[in-house]
Amino acid sequence: MRVRCNECGTEGEFQLAVWRCSCGGAWEPVGLPEFDPSNIFAQDFSIWRYGRMLGLDIDRPLKRMGVGWTPLVPIEFLGQKIHLKLEYLSPSGSFKDRGVNAMVNQLVHMRANLLVEDSSGNAGASLAAHSARFGIKSIIFVPAYASPSKLAQISIYGVDVVPIEGPRSAAEKAAQAIVGKDSVYASHAHNPAYLAGQMTAAWELWEQLDRHVPDWVISPVAQGGQFLGLWFGFKHLQDAGLVDRIPRMVAVQPARIAPLFNAWHQGLEEVKPIDASGPTVAEGVAISQPVRGKRLLQVIKDTNGMVLAIDEDAILMAQQDIARHGYYIEPTSALVIAAIKNLAEHFKPSDIVVVPLTGNGLKGKPKYDYGSKD
Ligand SMILES: [Zn+2]
Repeated sequence: MRVRCNECGTEGEFQLAVWRCSCGGAWEPVGLPEFDPSNIFAQDFSIWRYGRMLGLDIDRPLKRMGVGWTPLVPIEFLGQKIHLKLEYLSPSGSFKDRGVNAMVNQLVHMRANLLVEDSSGNAGASLAAHSARFGIKSIIFVPAYASPSKLAQISIYGVDVVPIEGPRSAAEKAAQAIVGKDSVYASHAHNPAYLAGQMTAAWELWEQLDRHVPDWVISPVAQGGQFLGLWFGFKHLQDAGLVDRIPRMVAVQPARIAPLFNAWHQGLEEVKPIDASGPTVAEGVAISQPVRGKRLLQVIKDTNGMVLAIDEDAILMAQQDIARHGYYIEPTSALVIAAIKNLAEHFKPSDIVVVPLTGNGLKGKPKYDYGSKD
């Protein structure tokens, strides 16, 4: 698989042992085949529908998991028509499966036999589920404070779970410390195949909207895997001449820990690490600094996008509001529902507004999570 570093421009073939660029930047997928609708596997209702366009070394999955082709449901919400993309209806209950499924297939194809990841929740659960399905060993480092319901989910798949005391970043360091010759870093924040898998949501939207792209896409952002994957996917459609524009991309963060919001509103070109001003119920996005911060800021700028920061009360209220329409999602996922209220004045009645719902409410009640500085 061909990869490129957005920080320094280094390009090459992805190797198991080289999980990031020597400059510290994360790899992005490059040199993908042009998006050609005649290359869609029309009878495949998973991310592998687009297997020939993913830029991976395989175009069919090694094992079937059932990830992708999630429903797109139009509803009326606060007088605005919005389209809910039900990403939480996935085997492990979150959108993470889309990227993890592509990543695990690529890594196993490259003969990885021990995967290492750090996660406090959905990414760990997704990797653990895939490890079970693929019969491959994984070690997942989790912050000792992670919510018991999420730890229970990660554990039941039979992977090794290692709790690490201290902030979220301590688990990240512990994982990176054992990555080496025999173990491969299967990181949702760094892995380029993960990003490739997330592109498929954009292509599904294009098909589900009768070969149109939305006017707006609103996404909760921590590392920004979904946000960037969607953008890469839309850009790929544009490069192929299939659409003439890319949606306005809106990133949403909890006000208590909003590094991207801060950087954007300070006009910075990079996202600096910040301390949380307090705990947030949006535990899935409580990180102090994204790995791909520069790229996130560039996408927001290029798409005439926005970054919103949402207060705790509004997040919980939004979770309840959307439940009253029949959709039970976790608080992190409700960030985007809260954002709809703030964006009402910007929407035109004819606008197609897409709101991915990222995590299942059945994941359980969040434990407060303080972000970490490093
Ligand atoms: Zn680099």
